[in-house]
Amino acid sequence: MKTFCGVLAAALGLSPAPQASAQAPTSAQRDLREIYKELVEINTTDSAGSCTEAAQALAARLKAAGLPAQDVQVIVPPDGPKKGNLVARYRGTSSKKPVMLLGHLDVVEAKREDWQRDPFRLIEENGYFYARGAADDKAMVAVFAANLIRYRREGYRPERDLIQVATCDEEIIPSKFSGIVYLLKNHRDLIDAEFALNEGGVGLLDKNGKYLRMSVQAGEKVFQTYQLEVTNPGGHSAFPVKDNAITHLAGGLARLGAYDFPFKLSATTRAYFERMSSIETGQTAADMKAILREPPDAEAIARLSAANPLNNSTFRTTCVATMLDAGHATNALPQHARATVNCRILPGESVAEVQQTLARVMADDKIRITPTHEPTLSPPPPLSPEIIGPIERVSAQMWPGMPVVPTLLAGATDGRFTINAGIPTYGVSGMFRDPDGAGVHGLNERIRVRTLYEGHEFLYRLVKLYGGGR
Ligand SMILES: [Zn+2]
Repeated sequence: MKTFCGVLAAALGLSPAPQASAQAPTSAQRDLREIYKELVEINTTDSAGSCTEAAQALAARLKAAGLPAQDVQVIVPPDGPKKGNLVARYRGTSSKKPVMLLGHLDVVEAKREDWQRDPFRLIEENGYFYARGAADDKAMVAVFAANLIRYRREGYRPERDLIQVATCDEEIIPSKFSGIVYLLKNHRDLIDAEFALNEGGVGLLDKNGKYLRMSVQAGEKVFQTYQLEVTNPGGHSAFPVKDNAITHLAGGLARLGAYDFPFKLSATTRAYFERMSSIETGQTAADMKAILREPPDAEAIARLSAANPLNNSTFRTTCVATMLDAGHATNALPQHARATVNCRILPGESVAEVQQTLARVMADDKIRITPTHEPTLSPPPPLSPEIIGPIERVSAQMWPGMPVVPTLLAGATDGRFTINAGIPTYGVSGMFRDPDGAGVHGLNERIRVRTLYEGHEFLYRLVKLYGGGR
């Protein structure tokens, strides 16, 4: 495996942002906008929505554009009528293994009364599109579909098949209807690919909309949740004893809060800090260089970690208390105390070891620790020149001088399942996000209008480079 840095040729330094074009939209952009609007306006939340409806809408568009009906399928799991997934194959000319264009149809819940605008209407305002899913992940799903249509109109013949896979229940962990898990298990032949492009790699803008850098996500941390529980005979709160379920659990959680898992770099995160140390300035740049040395500088680690939770999550496993539930009456000693601890484990670290560490840090054998689900391990995929080369090429065409930075994702996407199944998966979108996170998973989710169109163009060119042919 060649390392990422060995193949990087791009010069560093920030270039002025390309201006949003004031030209009239092209017909391909109008197509995209229609598909995007339709997709965003179909509610695909778990509570009230339907992925099946969204998958059918996309399928209808692809078939209307001329993709053969047998190559466009909506696959619905037998006991989840609203949990449909789209699999569409754009045929190539040779036997080279396909590329998968992966995205998810479902969105995180959004309550109308909490939002400033209707979350299930596409609203364009001040250069932004607002809607639930405007960015995560309907932008990419709509772009992939629109590009297949664009290729079809142009008569593009790739050397290999391009497979669009749009899944349900990516946002729900764990889910009995995870679309990608279902497809990998039951329809592997339909979606098998040499590698996949997926969400998880967004570029960063500053607060004035200036382009800072583009991320390519290669690898995800392992998502693992543990239940912590203390039980106790309880009794009357007028006669307390020292052995108290809440006190035991709270003590353990306080110790966990003060604990840091060991510092560790991988090929991806080392490349990330190398690259970032040339983008950052001052103390941060010096600290990033200092943690790359052998041995890494402990004070630099502490400063970087305090300065930005992203640094901390990049170089160590984290475990944090996320939910708490204890006691049953105001005047009774608690019979139980429970906490949920969510860990994001560095690839290559063992889940069992993390549990042992948790037990050691809790230092209280009254606290019972149980994993709530089986982990999905996904070793980081290699950033080979065949993968990174085209990304850098298109990026240099569209944003000359823009740094391309490999990242390890602390969140979780469908990529962990595809990687686990032997399909290397990379997060890359050509789309950029505001530094405040743009309401993804939160309120008033938004994406810049120009970003949607740039992602459209970026992925159009990138997928063509991977697809080959003409
Ligand atoms: Zn997503």
